[in-house]
Amino acid sequence: MNQGRDEDQLQTEWYRVSSRLKAEIGETAFENWVKPISVTAIEGSEVRLSIPSRFMRDWVEANYLDRLKELWTGENSGIHSVQIRISPKSKRPADETEGDNSNSAAVENKTQTAATEAATNDGATAANKPGWLAGNDIKAPLDPRFLFSKFVVGKPNEFAYAAARRVAEAQSVPFNPLFLYGGVGLGKTHLMNSIAWEIQQRDPSRTVMYLSAEKFMYRFVRALREQNTVDFKDQFRSVDVLMIDDVQFIGGRDATQEEFFHTFNALVDQGRQIILSADKSPSDLEGVEERLKSRLNCGLVADIHATTYELRLAILESKAEQMQLEAPRTVLEFLAHKITSNVRELEGALNRVAAHTQLIGRDLTLETTQEVLHDLLRANDRRVTIEEIQKRVAEHFNIRVSDMHSARRARSVARPRQVAMYLAKQLTSRSLPEIGRKFGGRDHTTVMHAVKKVDELCDHDSTFAEDVELLRRMLEG
Ligand code: ADP
Ligand code: MG
Repeated sequence: MNQGRDEDQLQTEWYRVSSRLKAEIGETAFENWVKPISVTAIEGSEVRLSIPSRFMRDWVEANYLDRLKELWTGENSGIHSVQIRISPKSKRPADETEGDNSNSAAVENKTQTAATEAATNDGATAANKPGWLAGNDIKAPLDPRFLFSKFVVGKPNEFAYAAARRVAEAQSVPFNPLFLYGGVGLGKTHLMNSIAWEIQQRDPSRTVMYLSAEKFMYRFVRALREQNTVDFKDQFRSVDVLMIDDVQFIGGRDATQEEFFHTFNALVDQGRQIILSADKSPSDLEGVEERLKSRLNCGLVADIHATTYELRLAILESKAEQMQLEAPRTVLEFLAHKITSNVRELEGALNRVAAHTQLIGRDLTLETTQEVLHDLLRANDRRVTIEEIQKRVAEHFNIRVSDMHSARRARSVARPRQVAMYLAKQLTSRSLPEIGRKFGGRDHTTVMHAVKKVDELCDHDSTFAEDVELLRRMLEG
């Protein structure tokens, strides 16, 4: 087809069609199935799309093709059919750039390249992209905020940081795997992302795949169901660097663990780098087989310790500077003293204070800080117990507290139970297995499922979301 205007029109139509489809099928399905598609041409009344694998093509054809056709005809009445071809090389230059309002120089370079390539890309010949842009339907997009340059180093994390840098800068594989572990909100994901950025920056031809263990599991289970594990295996075994975040979630899932073990061994044998993170050390991972634990222990294990006052203060100073926020030292010191749980909460607190003072147009002082954060400060003073959560939630939904422990599976009790598990995860520092035990000895995967379910429901049902939010406030306040 002609270049220029036609190409623009084609891309515009695709944009509209895919946006509509996204609204219908939701963000997750969109990310999984539609985003990897690229539009290549219009031939007569037919639109040609390409997708990276047969498996994906079959799925999209089975589930979305008819709707795609309808939507496209709605945009352009001259279109009567949509054809999807497999093109393993089809790249997704927009992948990392979308929604990426990065203000960092290092990432800007990349997004620039990506944007230029996207602009000059005629769609059909998207072949020779650098490896870090390689079209991949599984890996998660990297977070542009998470660079080494934005990671504040202190006693509790200096070892993990040094190990991460070493892996990111090495030409060969210095240790395999690198296993980073530490509590929630202490910077594991930040370091993982930094490594990925750095590797891609240094050598764009290396393919880096970063994803969460949950996604790995979910994909694997689905591939099993679809009887299509070959594509799944290929996708993992062809990367140079595999990074899996939060591997504690693999515990207890035997088939997934088995697959993970094989993937792991295959990659290590080929001299590919593996980087993992978890909330516990390999030896402490629950429900993980011994042979896997010992493999995980073979490389370098680096832990991130709880923050110290000095580190918290340094992080606050760095964040305030990045936000161009003029924060008096007393305020930062106060926050560093009071909010000791983790960096994520610390960051959240600073953001809240900043947003509030900007909105109201008041100076940032110790008084305003205390005022704005009174709920958070109180929550940090006094932690809720699981028993309190169960009692409150039971009252709210009008069920008996004993139903929190019972085996009854009717939705009228199962749903409140899930809400209580969700809140227990959010408001206490208990681990998933500990929470499971408090709910009649349930498995940690049940708790995990509950957390996910409630998250999903909150996304789709605003009344439900309000209920949960209300409960959360009551429990915190
Ligand atoms: P984890 O994956 O360990 O739960 P994250 O990496 O998501 O934690 O970190 C939570 C938040 O805290 C992120 O926004 C991250 O940028 C920030 N953070 C954590 N540690 C540091 C640090 N040392 N310097 C700067 N920011 C940090
Ligand atoms: Mg994380």
